[in-house]
Amino acid sequence: MKDASPQTIYLKDYTPFGWQVADVHLTVALAPNATRVKSRIHFVPNPNAPEQEFFLHGEELKLIRAAIDGEEVAPEITPQGLRCKVPSGPFLWESEVEIAPAENFALEGLYMSNGMYCTQCEAEGFRKITYYPDRPDVMATFTVRIEGDEAVKLSNGNPTDSGEGWAEWHDPWPKPAYLFALVAGDLVNHPGEFTTRSGKTVELNIWVRPGDEDKCAFGMEALKASMKWDEEVYGREYDLDIFNIVAVDDFNMGAMENKGLNIFNSSCVLASPETSTDANFERIEAIIAHEYFHNWTGNRITCRDWFQLCLKEGLTVFRDSQFTSDMRSAEVKRISDVIDLRARQFPEDQGPLSHPVRPESFQEINNFYTATVYEKGAEVIGMLKRLVGDEDYAKALDLYFERHDGDAATIEDWLTVFEDATGRDLAQFKRWYSQSGTPHLSVTEDYADGVYTLTFKQHTPPTPGQSEKAPQVLPIAVGLLNPNGDEVVPTTVLEMTEAEQSFSFDGLSSKPVPSILRGFSAPVVLERETAPEEKRFLLAHDTDAFNRWEASRDLARACLYAMITEGAGPDTAWIDALEQVVRDADLDPAFRALMLSLPTQSELAQMLHARGVTPDPDAIYAATEALKNAMAERWSALLPALREESAVTAAYSPGAEQSGKRALGNAVLALQTRLDGGKAAQAQYDAADNMTMQLSALSCLISAGAEETALAAFEAQWKDDRLVMDKWFALQVAATAPENAATRASALTERADFDWKNPNRFRAVMGSLAMNHAGFHAKDGSGYKLLADWLIKLDEKNPQTAARMCSVFQTWKRYDTQRQALMQAELERIAAKPGLSRDVTEMVTRLLS
Ligand SMILES: [Zn+2]
Repeated sequence: MKDASPQTIYLKDYTPFGWQVADVHLTVALAPNATRVKSRIHFVPNPNAPEQEFFLHGEELKLIRAAIDGEEVAPEITPQGLRCKVPSGPFLWESEVEIAPAENFALEGLYMSNGMYCTQCEAEGFRKITYYPDRPDVMATFTVRIEGDEAVKLSNGNPTDSGEGWAEWHDPWPKPAYLFALVAGDLVNHPGEFTTRSGKTVELNIWVRPGDEDKCAFGMEALKASMKWDEEVYGREYDLDIFNIVAVDDFNMGAMENKGLNIFNSSCVLASPETSTDANFERIEAIIAHEYFHNWTGNRITCRDWFQLCLKEGLTVFRDSQFTSDMRSAEVKRISDVIDLRARQFPEDQGPLSHPVRPESFQEINNFYTATVYEKGAEVIGMLKRLVGDEDYAKALDLYFERHDGDAATIEDWLTVFEDATGRDLAQFKRWYSQSGTPHLSVTEDYADGVYTLTFKQHTPPTPGQSEKAPQVLPIAVGLLNPNGDEVVPTTVLEMTEAEQSFSFDGLSSKPVPSILRGFSAPVVLERETAPEEKRFLLAHDTDAFNRWEASRDLARACLYAMITEGAGPDTAWIDALEQVVRDADLDPAFRALMLSLPTQSELAQMLHARGVTPDPDAIYAATEALKNAMAERWSALLPALREESAVTAAYSPGAEQSGKRALGNAVLALQTRLDGGKAAQAQYDAADNMTMQLSALSCLISAGAEETALAAFEAQWKDDRLVMDKWFALQVAATAPENAATRASALTERADFDWKNPNRFRAVMGSLAMNHAGFHAKDGSGYKLLADWLIKLDEKNPQTAARMCSVFQTWKRYDTQRQALMQAELERIAAKPGLSRDVTEMVTRLLS
């Protein structure tokens, strides 16, 4: 059932639910087209809530029976739920509903994936399972009985009893319904065990379909490492006897932190050297950690309402990036996070979808699982930690867990904890949660009589619904180098609170070279005109790895800008300065690989737009290609030596050391391919014994237009592996020349194995089309049209994934009038589709506003 008139929900309208739920008993009798769900729920009037009518959420449910205290009742049913007269005191609510998981392609609530039953209830999926107050501030203990022939039947908490055709689970920890989970299927497990620091043994399992059990070992080790890390760093111990992870092929998101029963997109947990790349391994490690860390930051302390989503997500993303920094290289992780922030969050914050880290209204909460809530939310925590210092951060977190364990909390609660633990006033800092947009920071310098002064100015451009902006609290990490390259002032955090503010350093014998915004200490756009000599100086001497990388990025941006707008040639002075870093064998190969990456074409389009130049995707593509060719030619003698140096001879291991070498070797291979047309890449493809080497070779062959043999061989080798074939689908569209992108994507959708109802497969093709910048923005509009056709089709089955993918149009106003008109027409075509979902309607409306 579709919702004809979407309603806007406001943070300011929050009201507590009129009842508390003492406990929930569910009996779920599984059947693909007629699952019966019986609920028994004890409601008790909530003394802290205003009087209200009794309303339970429920969507797409067939009510069989409802009763209060054993007496049958006939509630009023609406598309959103039911209303009913209830006694004034405590009462027992019973209901029985029927649902059809086999027909649920939205993948919310209870659905089927390759014959197994599974659930996804965040944010509002539980209302598709039974009638319930489906809101995060209603917390209850759950007892669940599952009936069915499946060999394995799982739910939250601990197993309590089982018999032929049934199993019972009890979760002693009160939780909101969005953390409910149920899985049933003929699954096999990869078992493990963890002993907590207080000596309790926890049974661990990763459940998969038969045939996948050899791809669980890495995930299991990552889980144990996460459990240990959270004890050591945050003092958080696991609180049940068992922890289950299940891999599911059809899943809208990466993974879900259901209490004691995490459900994962199989692409985010299954791993083997033959089928997964180094990047897959790192991502799996991070996602397993992320979901596990939610047990405390999300489950034990949850959100009062969905406006507070960043309370659990910003903090948990911050925690998982700390974990990855500890497991691997902190410097490389920081640079990678900033690349990701600029690629996904900055465009969001600078376009029509801009919203605060804590939004103030929404129509469909699923549309707010965004880079702003997650990644900018994590940046805000990072700034807070930088401002208060590590010790006070730890103190505040201890107080947070102590004070709010078992609560459904708010951002106000979170900030009050910091104020109480540190004595700091965070009233101004709170703006980071309410003010949208990316601040721009400019800086001028002055040196006289041994005193060096930096004067900063900040301003945030207007964003939808917010024309006036106030100054933010900005932690600006600064270091100073003397002209010899020695550091004379080590990293110091300046706390900027005004629109314009100066900071002085005295006792300097000569004018220093500043290294500003070290470690990207605040998520801002730094605007500073500096001579290329100074950038090259920082590239050579900065002790801060992030700013060393950033200096090179700035030079690359300036070079590409001149190539695009003035037809200039490549900046050979930069290429030579970069060479010194790339060939420095004392540096981490992963860092050197990052130094070789160029700004994305989308980032360049954003930069041009910000400088008042209309970006031409074809010109951006041509300049990027020309620069890469120039790098390859200038380093023609160096490249073979670098590849030799980065060769790995030991048995495959996905750890930081080997994967760094492979990243460097493969970045070099991409340049080599420009000189040899794919000879070296073909040789690497033929010799590859792991997916990292095989896939990067294939990528090079595709860019060179020499992929025919390898592409067929890859398909023959991997046609039965769904996850590997996703890579095959994706790469052909992402790595091909722009003029082929839409045609290739379209041809792939004609294949029998283009299972578009599977979100991974859909994203492999359509997400990659959007990533091929000049291909997606083809002048004839073919890229836009193809994507719009498919979004319209997908929306009928899976509104959530369709809506999320609409965001690829978020930058449409950057481009020339012809492209704008083409994109606008496609957006309007989507909007005009009869029966369009609430999810996509909201997204398209915001994009067009
Ligand atoms: Zn999360």
